[in-house]
Amino acid sequence: MINLPAALIQELQNNNIVDVEQLQKAHLEDAITSVRINSKKCTLQFSNQAKVPWADHAFYLADRPFFAHDPLWHAGAYYVQEASSMFLEYAFKQCVNLSEDIKVLDLCAAPGGKSTLVADIISENSLLISNEVIGTRVAPLAENMMKWGRCNTWVSNNDPKQFTKLENYFDVILVDAPCSGSGLFRKDENYIAEWTAANVHLCAQRQQRILHDVMPALKPNGILIYMTCSFSTAENEDICDEIVEQFSAESITLEVPTDWGILKTISKKKQASAYRFFPNLLQGEGFFLACFRKMDDVDNAPDLKYFKKEKTDFNWLGKYVNLNNKTVIQEKELLFAMPNNYLDDYLYLSKNIKLIRKGTLLGKAIKQELIPEHDLAVSVHCAYQNTYEVTLTQALNYLKKIDFTLPEDCPKGWVILQYNYCNIGWIKNMGNRWNNYFPMHLRIRKM
Ligand code: SAM
Repeated sequence: MINLPAALIQELQNNNIVDVEQLQKAHLEDAITSVRINSKKCTLQFSNQAKVPWADHAFYLADRPFFAHDPLWHAGAYYVQEASSMFLEYAFKQCVNLSEDIKVLDLCAAPGGKSTLVADIISENSLLISNEVIGTRVAPLAENMMKWGRCNTWVSNNDPKQFTKLENYFDVILVDAPCSGSGLFRKDENYIAEWTAANVHLCAQRQQRILHDVMPALKPNGILIYMTCSFSTAENEDICDEIVEQFSAESITLEVPTDWGILKTISKKKQASAYRFFPNLLQGEGFFLACFRKMDDVDNAPDLKYFKKEKTDFNWLGKYVNLNNKTVIQEKELLFAMPNNYLDDYLYLSKNIKLIRKGTLLGKAIKQELIPEHDLAVSVHCAYQNTYEVTLTQALNYLKKIDFTLPEDCPKGWVILQYNYCNIGWIKNMGNRWNNYFPMHLRIRKM
């Protein structure tokens, strides 16, 4: 029997939000496994499973496979994501005009679940900055964004404070705030032991600070989506009241089908609409989401005119990467592909924040030959045709960096190995031997 913290149960009972007995019962069951398909990659292998109602391309799995032994997981063909949090897709589509090219900030982005989701729904000429403040969490975020494979998704490593100066820059800001984590009790029981009312209070203070730091970076009429995985009002509806009060923001009410089991709540002071997810009411873990429009009318967006186009001709790279609407940038010896329309932004952002990943890293150029990077192989923009389909055993050996004999018919030179027609990485085949260019730090370690 899982015992949820008494103070939390008491609060939920007092607020009369949910039947706490049913909620406790739901905690006796296992957490649910769900995945979201990368819509620009190649697999349909989950399409016979039940669909997550509020997200396109998302499915519940009957059990939890060992994902690290699936080459398609390494290829970024899908992302393992908690189902409730995929509601962001539904909310985003209602609040944001997706036919426009927009700039989005995912402020608390690691490990990248919400960012990969947003990358899938924004236009090709939109820009997503996925930020993470904690240094050790940036590498997994950057890896996940690399595997998702879009050149318009960049990664940064900054404290929310550093965004204050990007005044009126973003059209949409997501704050998936660090929280007390009660919504994830079923996924990780350790959260139960760590939960205290005092920590809820500390989290609420931090959430307010984060919002104060980042709100200046949202354009007038821009959209803020605030999320937590906490059940506590102090971190949820009370923060919504702060948002309306402090930032002249207007709450946005969403149209949500009643049979989905999502609870609509209203904040006490400012009557902001919010959406709550409880594991006893739907197939998913605890989650909270609320949307706002910033009502400021002063728009002094930064004037971006920095970029001097280099004269270097990179057309020869067309063999490797689809260059439509993209420009190649050279930094020292490394080449990146990024959307044409963000060259000024690239310099503006480089001056103001610490960018870790910008566009798709193509590789090093030596004369007109490319020493390609893994980033390019798994990019949805990759145009390289010299590919070779391998079996599951060969793919796993490749990903473990274990030697195996390549079949005779494998082409020579730089080759991208594919599994299920999905790129998994580079090899260089010299005929009598071959080299495995799968990045050492990403290899499968558990045999
Ligand atoms: N959005 C992520 C996803 O969907 O995969 C999950 C984000 S998690 C709920 C909250 C994130 O906020 C964590 O990555 C954590 O490192 C980060 N964080 C912790 N303290 C923070 C702070 N003071 N300011 C901003 N972010 C912080």
